[in-house]
Amino acid sequence: MDINLEIFSPVHQIKNKLFNELDLKVSIKRDDLIHPIISGNKWRKLKYILLKAQAENKTHLVTFGGAYSNHLLATAAAAAKFGFKATGIVRGEAVNNDTLFLCKLHGMELIFTDRDSYRDKTALFEKHFGNNADAFFIDEGGASANGAQGCSELITELGETYDHIFCACGTGTTAAGIINGINEHQLSAQFNAVPVFKNGEFMKDEIDRFLTAPTDYHLHTGYHFGGYGKTTPELISFIKQFVADTGILIEPVYTGKMLYALFDLAQKNHFKPGDKILAIHSGGIWGLLGMKDKF
Ligand SMILES: *Cc1c(COP(=O)(O)O)cnc(C)c1O
Repeated sequence: MDINLEIFSPVHQIKNKLFNELDLKVSIKRDDLIHPIISGNKWRKLKYILLKAQAENKTHLVTFGGAYSNHLLATAAAAAKFGFKATGIVRGEAVNNDTLFLCKLHGMELIFTDRDSYRDKTALFEKHFGNNADAFFIDEGGASANGAQGCSELITELGETYDHIFCACGTGTTAAGIINGINEHQLSAQFNAVPVFKNGEFMKDEIDRFLTAPTDYHLHTGYHFGGYGKTTPELISFIKQFVADTGILIEPVYTGKMLYALFDLAQKNHFKPGDKILAIHSGGIWGLLGMKDKF
């Protein structure tokens, strides 16, 4: 099976009064359009992981995630598309929700695991698949050097240069890949990482472990809105306004926080007149289904 997806990820400009007044050109890279399910950075992260699995003659993908994990869903859909079997090891007691429904629909088998055992993923893999020669371990969120390699390719698709590039961070793999891409192409763009966790300073170590060369970048730790998956009425009303104004769907866990940060920093005169800014839409909009009650 040829493991490839033709990448359709156009860059769209976001026009509004604020950016106009500040003389900022803000655009968004639509990685959410790469695939309806294997969306955004999840496809970029999986690409070289799946090629490695294939090169090692592995036919069964085993990966990990919470019950709302975009990575689990992307892996389920990619496995179905490219002819792998897939198992998702899910943190916490057995539940059903829209994400897991879609995982199962794509043929993924689920194993629910208590939160204690979940911490040691290598041990879990050994326990369930230790003597299964077909099984291939993929870390939670696709965090890996191979994952970062796929994300670095985003930079090769850009038709122009930018002063700032913004991206939301969970494991930091996507951020690391994009920074590596910026370096490889000797671009002067400053990278802006927006961690979606509380106390996001730790994200620096997570990003740095996949960098191919030490690099400075901005870490904006003040946009977690209470922590992972947490929201505030302010964040929700920003998201509603953004979607209604642009027709571009975003969600509260990742892209909503990243874009809120970009808009807030613009308002606080963080950028220079004439700056060109690129936000990465890293996909994940199915996550909205689990958050309807917040809106
Ligand atoms: C998983 C995810 C991220 C985080 O990517 P990392 O590489 O883990 O930092 C960002 N945005 C969306 C929409 C995601 O689903």
